[in-house]
Parts: sequence; C-alpha cells; structure tokens
Amino acid sequence: MSKKLISIVIPVFNEEENIPLIYAGLLKTLNGLLDNYDYEIIFVDDGSQDNSAVVLENFANQNSHVKFIQFSRNFGKELALSAGLDAAGGDAVIMIDADLQHPVELVPNFMEKWQNGAEVVIGVRNRNIGGGIVKKIGSLLFYKIMDTIGDTKITPNATDYRLLDRKVVLAFRRFTEHGRMTRGLIDWLGFKREYINFDSNGRKNGLACYDKMKLVKLALCTIVNHSLFPLKLAGYLGVAIIVLFGLAGFLLFVGRYIVHNSFAMSFSGPAQLAILLVFLVGIILSCLGLVALYIANIQDEVLKRPTYVIRKSNFNQMI
Ligand code: UDP
Ligand code: MG
Repeated sequence: MSKKLISIVIPVFNEEENIPLIYAGLLKTLNGLLDNYDYEIIFVDDGSQDNSAVVLENFANQNSHVKFIQFSRNFGKELALSAGLDAAGGDAVIMIDADLQHPVELVPNFMEKWQNGAEVVIGVRNRNIGGGIVKKIGSLLFYKIMDTIGDTKITPNATDYRLLDRKVVLAFRRFTEHGRMTRGLIDWLGFKREYINFDSNGRKNGLACYDKMKLVKLALCTIVNHSLFPLKLAGYLGVAIIVLFGLAGFLLFVGRYIVHNSFAMSFSGPAQLAILLVFLVGIILSCLGLVALYIANIQDEVLKRPTYVIRKSNFNQMI
C-alpha cells in the first residue's frame, strides 16, 4: 500500500527568523513518521517585506518536499491559507502558524485522531500569553456575539492549527467568498471533529502582524457573512414599535373620543402627535426590515456557498 501524503500549510508574513525554526521542528517531527507517511511542506509567502521569500526559496532548493507560493502582495492570512489548501495534494492537510505559537510536536497527535476517524482536528488554545487585555476582551466579545446571533457556531479559542481530511479540503475549495475566516468556514462545513488542547506560547520572533484594526475588520466581516441578525434588527424594532405605539394610539383614541376617559383627555395635542410620529417611524423601520429580508436573500446568493456538502457517496461524479 502506498504511503499517505501529509501536506503542511504555513502562511508566512515577515517571518524570516521563524522560518528556519519551524522548518527544523517540522523536519524532526515528520522524519519520525516517514515509515508510514510522505509529506510536503507548503509555505505561502503572503507578500513579506523582509527576507522570508529568499529563505523559503533556499529551503525549497535544498529539499524537494518543500514547496512555496509567493503572493504578489499581502493578501492576509486567510487567503494565504486558502492558497495553501488549493495547492495541497495530501490525504490530510495540517495548517500551522509560522511564529511557533502552534507546537509542532503535536502534529503526530493530530494525525492519530485523523487515523481514528476524525475528519477535522482542531487545535484549541488553553491560554494565550501573547495577547493583551484589549485583544482578550475583543475576542471574548466576538465569540459571544457570534454564539448569540451567528448561524455558524465557532468554538472559542479554537485556532487555525487544524488538520483537514482531503474531503474537507475539496469541500473547502468550493467556497468563493472573498472576505473569509477560514476557521468559520471549516466549522460551517460540518464533518466529524475532534479537538486537541495546547498551550500557546508567545510568538518567537517579530510582531503579531494582525493589528487591532485588522482584527476588528475580520470580526465584522465574519459577523456579516455568518449572521443576518444585524440586518433584520431594524425590522424587529419596527414591528415592536408598531405594536406598542399602535396599541397606545388605539387606546388613546378610544379613551378620548368614545369613553371620554380623563387620563386619555389629559394627553396634549403634541403628545398625541408624538405617538403618531413614533408609530410612523415604526412603519418605516419595519419596511427596512422587509428590504433586509430581500438583501439577505441576495447575500445568500452572492456568497455562492455550496448548497450542500457530501461526506461520501458511491456515485463517481460526486465528491
Ligand atoms: N500571516 C500572514 N499574513 C498576514 C498576517 C499574518 O500570512 O497578513 C501569518 C503569519 O506569518 C503567521 C500567521 O499568519 O504565520 C499568524 O499571524 P500572527 O501571529 O500575526 O497572528 P496571531 O497569532 O495574532 O493570530
Ligand atoms: Mg501568532
């Protein structure tokens, strides 16, 4: 039986000092598995401005297991991962950060879970020494919001350190959306998942390239892509206002002109006008909500997500 191929995908942005370290670590781990597995290491250089590209090319020249993709400019980690997944030929693909925050020694543990039937193995961070308080609160808030209003459940502290079975990779390639959060999309796909906990160290060299603005942008983009709730909020608000102020207006009308209730009589002209105006605002908001429903429909269509994802079938033409 031929050996199974494991692809390691590493996004790289200004990591010239870390590349030799992660490369050495990977070689050590993967060479220990060579009896049963072949491997390829795919570095995706995401438009680094330091010497990363040169270092990568050197490694690729020395070792035929090493492949590299060089972006024309910085496209962001999410797209670097996508490029790696597109190029990977492995029966399983492992995505790992270049900054040594994801312990390489755990690769065999990921593979063991995969061999035991898991289709997605997810690295979950126990603690993150590197992140500041703002980042921690931000990430807590993000996961809370996603958990409440998102249609995809994203495990808190789940990282991009993941193993994907080939069928998951093939399914992932069908996504066409531009703004993408890889782990959110993988979670959306489903499949059998297993988790591995690990302690995340501070990054070895260099600075975390995701500044706070970039993270906020990614979070907003993920919420918009995975939840229609913000869009529908105006509509819900409008309906609530219509019901509340419609009822108040109706009671006022009955109290004033039919039963001549003294409380209703005490409402001044401007107060009555205010109730009428808020009621009209309610109508406008609910119309916005209606428009939102149509936009939601359009959003669904333009994202062009796969309509279904198949794990297995005995039709050849299907994956
Ligand atoms: N990265 C990338 N493109 C970017 C930013 C980061 O390919 O624009 C890579 C980076 O080299 C590292 C991984 O993505 O391998 C994680 O980056 P970082 O450590 O900055 O993120 P964090 O650990 O804060 O999630
Ligand atoms: Mg990092």
